Amino acid sequence: MYLKSIELSGFKSFGKKTEFVFGSKIVGIVGPNGSGKSNVAEAFRFVLGEQSMKSMRSRRGEDLIWGGSPSLSRQNRASIRVVFDNSTRLLDIDFKEVVIERVVYRDGQNEYILNGTQVRLKDVVRLLAGANIGGSGYQIISQGEADRILNASPRERREMVEDALGLKLYQHKKAESERKLEETARNIEKTKSLRREIAPHLTFLRSQVEKIEKAREMKEELAVKLSDYLAREHAWIAQEDARLLQEAQAEEKELKHLSERVREARGKRGVGGERALSDLHGKIGERESKLAEARRESERLARELGRAEGAAKANTVTTEQLVAIPHVRTFAREMSEELAGAEREVDVQVIRHKLAHLRERIRAFVEGLSGSAPETHEESEQKVRALDASLKRVREEEDLLSGELENLRKELSQAREAGFAAERDLIALESGVREAQSALSGVQNARASIREARTRFEDEVREGIALVGEAVHGWERAEIPQGALSEDRNTQEKRRREIERLKIKIEESGIGDGDTIVREFKQTKERDEFLDRELADLEASEHKLKDIIADLERTIDERFRDGLKHINAALGDFFTRLFGGGGAKLEIESPRRVKHDEDDMDEEDFIEEEQELYAGLSISVSLPRKKVRGLEVLSGGERALTSIALIFSMSQVNPPPFLILDETDAALDEANSKRYADMIRELGKKSQLIVITHNRATMAAAGELYGVTMSGDGVSKVLSVKLEEAEKVAK
Ligand code: ATP
Repeated sequence: MYLKSIELSGFKSFGKKTEFVFGSKIVGIVGPNGSGKSNVAEAFRFVLGEQSMKSMRSRRGEDLIWGGSPSLSRQNRASIRVVFDNSTRLLDIDFKEVVIERVVYRDGQNEYILNGTQVRLKDVVRLLAGANIGGSGYQIISQGEADRILNASPRERREMVEDALGLKLYQHKKAESERKLEETARNIEKTKSLRREIAPHLTFLRSQVEKIEKAREMKEELAVKLSDYLAREHAWIAQEDARLLQEAQAEEKELKHLSERVREARGKRGVGGERALSDLHGKIGERESKLAEARRESERLARELGRAEGAAKANTVTTEQLVAIPHVRTFAREMSEELAGAEREVDVQVIRHKLAHLRERIRAFVEGLSGSAPETHEESEQKVRALDASLKRVREEEDLLSGELENLRKELSQAREAGFAAERDLIALESGVREAQSALSGVQNARASIREARTRFEDEVREGIALVGEAVHGWERAEIPQGALSEDRNTQEKRRREIERLKIKIEESGIGDGDTIVREFKQTKERDEFLDRELADLEASEHKLKDIIADLERTIDERFRDGLKHINAALGDFFTRLFGGGGAKLEIESPRRVKHDEDDMDEEDFIEEEQELYAGLSISVSLPRKKVRGLEVLSGGERALTSIALIFSMSQVNPPPFLILDETDAALDEANSKRYADMIRELGKKSQLIVITHNRATMAAAGELYGVTMSGDGVSKVLSVKLEEAEKVAK
């Protein structure tokens, strides 16, 4: 027993909450016409997910809700709650009891609740399909619809049989797989189109990245070349700087030294030279005038001497001839006395005075003598000797002066010579100074160009950093190759030009922010690779799905054919029991193209479905003792009997958990009602049955009976009844 109970609330005529609890395998529902019995069967349809309003005798969801009566106002919702015993895991869900509830609101909104949790319709449908409770509705035979299976199209009939055979689950799986396949195909197309979309961008990015890589290679090359160049340049600048500094210092020193010497030489020329010369000139002049004087004196003396010598020769006068001796003796005695008087004096003044007096007396004496007496020969001789001595002295002086003059003139010429030499030296020194100055300015110019070289070097480092980044600093660690400092500057210049060319090339490559493009390329490439993998995955799952679908189709086909055999066997049995002979058979039609209802699919599906080959099920009947064949010729009762045989045989082969039969027995005569009741009992062993009936034999087959009544308020009510009461209730 799977169905435990069903609760109707606000559903159709069940304006009040009403519960049916099922205590037997066969439950009969009885009641007068219009009391609401069929509403119970529809409640089952509803809660199991029925979507066709028509099959619940309604036009819209609102029609399912209690519409109200003077005594009970209308409801806003209708709900049906069915409780399954799931202790045998009929439903594939880990609960001992499963409660499925469906609610409909006046706005047509539906809700499905599974064990208290709101779920989707398809969750309910799947769960039920797994338990062979299908959607084709053959388990719920509505009133007057017993022969629905006969009226159905071959396709619908096949669906009902498939449903009865429990193939619905496979169909669901197949439909699901087909849906997935479609989705996969869509995704494949989408993925392909995404790849197509990014392809040109990727190609563009790839070419950009190639350019960037080339530029990077050039940059690396530049970094290496620049490091080498800068290391050499730096070393060269340092070397030149030091060398030129030393040179400048040496030149400065030399210049200072030379300037000092020039100053000295100039000083010497000014102070020593000129003055010495003028001194010499002065001395020479003085000596020359003295010499001229001496010469004049010597000439005069020579003339005088000639004259004196002549006079002396002619003079024969002697002293004795001239002087009175007694007079001289007197004078000599007086002189001696006066001298003696002076010698005795102490006072210097008195002595001087006395000596002056003496000199006067001597002069007066001599004058007294000579004035009156001629010169003597002796005196003339004396005069000659005196003159000769003077001449000799003057001539000596003359010689001395001549000698001095000669020396001074020599000195003067030497001094002049020295002056010339000094002048020459000065000129030489001055030219040396000029040379030193020009050498120094040369060195200074060289130093200025070294400073320029250093500035350029710093600029090159900065520019290098801007171009190749920190890699430029490699020059600080780079070793200076041997002989680098002595090489020709042109070689380094060549390097510089090469670096300039590289820089231009890098600039011309025109790649700005390379990192962004590389990143974008990487991302786009990764995306493309991802899409490629995705595509491969999708294609693999497309394959897998096709395999699954093929497998499912095979399984469905096999099980269908096999099940059909069994159904036909049971059908033969039930048919003969009901008709006392004859037979009926379900046959697979030859496949043909079928069109679906155009309403429930879009154009694309329609085209696809149009091409579908479908083999429906036809039914052939042969009645006993009658030659006619075919469904069309059957009477109403015969149709009902055939339908019952078919429904029962389907239930027999793959018993559903439950069957709801709403007055399926309505058209049966008494004999057939009994047979029907027997078959119900038989079926009841395998499936739970809820039979709505007016038929006593059927009521008798039920283990439990519910009576549904409706009083003047229009509300259906339920009561449990005994068989004896049931017939009464039913009327
Ligand atoms: P019969 O034995 O003649 O087949 P029944 O017992 O099966 O009758 P139902 O067809 O189940 O009767 O019930 C029909 C009753 O339900 C009618 O009286 C109808 O007015 C009532 N009904 C249907 N829908 C609603 C609704 N939405 N609100 C109130 N009553 C409703």
